[in-house]
Amino acid sequence: MGPAIVVHAGAGAYGAELREHGGEVAEVLRSVLAAAGRRLAEGFDALTVVVGAVETMEDYGRFNAGYGAALCSDGTVELSASVMRGADRAAGAVAGVRTVRNPVRAAELVLAGEQVLMIGEAAESLAAAAGLELWENSAFVTERQRARLRTLAEAAESRGTVGAVCLDGHGRLAAATSTGGINGQPPGRVGDSPLVGAGTWADARVAVSCTGDGEAFIRAGVARRLGGHVESGASVAEAAERVLAEVGELGGAGGLIALGVEGEVSMPFSTQAMPRGVWRAGGEPEVWLS
Ligand code: ASP
Repeated sequence: MGPAIVVHAGAGAYGAELREHGGEVAEVLRSVLAAAGRRLAEGFDALTVVVGAVETMEDYGRFNAGYGAALCSDGTVELSASVMRGADRAAGAVAGVRTVRNPVRAAELVLAGEQVLMIGEAAESLAAAAGLELWENSAFVTERQRARLRTLAEAAESRGTVGAVCLDGHGRLAAATSTGGINGQPPGRVGDSPLVGAGTWADARVAVSCTGDGEAFIRAGVARRLGGHVESGASVAEAAERVLAEVGELGGAGGLIALGVEGEVSMPFSTQAMPRGVWRAGGEPEVWLS
């Protein structure tokens, strides 16, 4: 099985914004997939490829990650991200960072060190020491997100958390997820995205990135549990359906992307829409919105 990459841009409603800008969103995902495909063809490893893909999505401005992320109730931005490498289960994450332009790069830095999860100013210092780009918090704030905070439009719109899972040419898996959390969340609230085992997981068999009602995903232990089901013999698709059903039993909704070591792809969601796409060796990127 050749290399493959799957990306998502958040589970949510198929609202007016997605109807209006869906073509552009699809185009962004297609170009992210095409760039990742080129890197995979050049022999880059899965971790490097998911970090690069998520970094591009963090920069786009219309996704809920990095620049243009959702605002907290006080109008500021708090960003979180995580990455995991399947081969050795090395993991890194940052939560509640306010100045790191690309939180996924900070998560990658944490992975390279001894800790797994760093928060707030300590995570920002680490990023600064490594030369990552820092921004004023206000530079992340877009007029679009200001308007969404005013109307608390989140429930009716696609949420835009981003993630990627990848299988490289050596059969190695990796996953990454990045978010600004939930529109209007209290400062300090952390969802599932930076939590390894909840919003992100990768082992030797499967890589997972989640999106949706973070509290339910945490309580269901979604991403790790999916890996456990696969370990016990379930197909990637069965495992994905099972964990999403558990999220539903807890009153939550959302979606996930999962990629198995044989190249099996599963992308279930319980919302109206989840922009997502797949690229496989030798093929063209395929993208869906709902
Ligand atoms: N899961 C994210 C969180 O709870 C939000 C999302 O995926 O839209 O922070």
